[in-house]
Amino acid sequence: MKVAVFSCKPYDKRTLLAASDEHQEIELFFFESRLSLETISLAENFDAISCFVNDDLSRQVIDRLASYNVKAIALRCAGYNNVDLCCAKAHKIPVFHVPDYSPTSVAEHAVALIMTLNRKTHRAYHRVKEGNFALEGLLGFNLEGKTVGCIGTGRIGAAFCRIMIGFGCNVLCYDIEENRHVVSLGAEYTDLETLYSRSDIISLHCPLNASTHHLINKHSLSQMKPGVMIINTSRGALVNAQEAIDGLYRGQIGYLGLDVYEQEGDMFFEDMSDNIIYDSVFQLLLTFPNVVVTGHQGYFTDIALHHIADTTLENLKQMLSE
Ligand code: NAD
Repeated sequence: MKVAVFSCKPYDKRTLLAASDEHQEIELFFFESRLSLETISLAENFDAISCFVNDDLSRQVIDRLASYNVKAIALRCAGYNNVDLCCAKAHKIPVFHVPDYSPTSVAEHAVALIMTLNRKTHRAYHRVKEGNFALEGLLGFNLEGKTVGCIGTGRIGAAFCRIMIGFGCNVLCYDIEENRHVVSLGAEYTDLETLYSRSDIISLHCPLNASTHHLINKHSLSQMKPGVMIINTSRGALVNAQEAIDGLYRGQIGYLGLDVYEQEGDMFFEDMSDNIIYDSVFQLLLTFPNVVVTGHQGYFTDIALHHIADTTLENLKQMLSE
């Protein structure tokens, strides 16, 4: 089976090649390019493709894949909000994803963003590099005793709750389906309004879909404690960035930690230091001292990369055997 691997960085190539030793029947071809209508012709003559979160798998792209007789899409990620699943189903192209590669990696990154913001480590580090050891402006707060709201308590949300309970936080959860494991850890389910009004920190761990798009907006912000900390390691479009900026100006949001951004597809995962072309909203976000942004690296740990490579190849092998 010939597989075109899109958005393939050197680290993806290394782990996929290492894992492919056990899957001789799969021949991998690596493309750094992001899959889009502009690059789609690269997928011609392949049996399957492998994609990542920033690849475009919209209806038009999938229609073209079907015309090339591509027989499967193997995602190297957990979320699949970038895929038109109805269109793939209509063309009988199975879409595989990697749901369980390392929930702890993302949960720990959410906690890292919280701990950077609450102790202002990002600002302290810059000061120390400049020889400034003054503490003025760096006053932090303890996590112990704080109320943390977790929206979405699947694999990553549950791992996040476990860590925050370990810190001595009171954890409130909201999900459309309760996870008994989270309750057994000591977290409490509540409705969204109560979570908003009682939480000092709110972390998003639900998928992006029609019901969660721009979940954080001016209306939900108005129900939260003034100065709330918002953390998003899930998908960028869960947060209305422009309304979050308004919330930052008004002090409604006290701290904002983002690993994802709505328009990240065009800029994240690239070294843009020679040619910075941020959109104006993103540029504005970076000017706030109480905002920390990382470039979708929540998943990016050694163990997660290996699990992603192994499962992607297993998924492709499963397709071969069907
Ligand atoms: P999961 O499917 O195990 O859990 C998602 C949970 O969200 C489920 O319990 C589901 O019931 C709940 N949910 C669905 N709709 C909801 C709604 N409207 N309101 C509240 N909860 C709702 O998924 P997961 O593995 O925990 O991943 C969560 C998300 O994290 C993924 O969708 C993906 O977008 C994101 N993610 C980010 C990274 C990263 O590197 N930053 C890596 C992996 C996953």
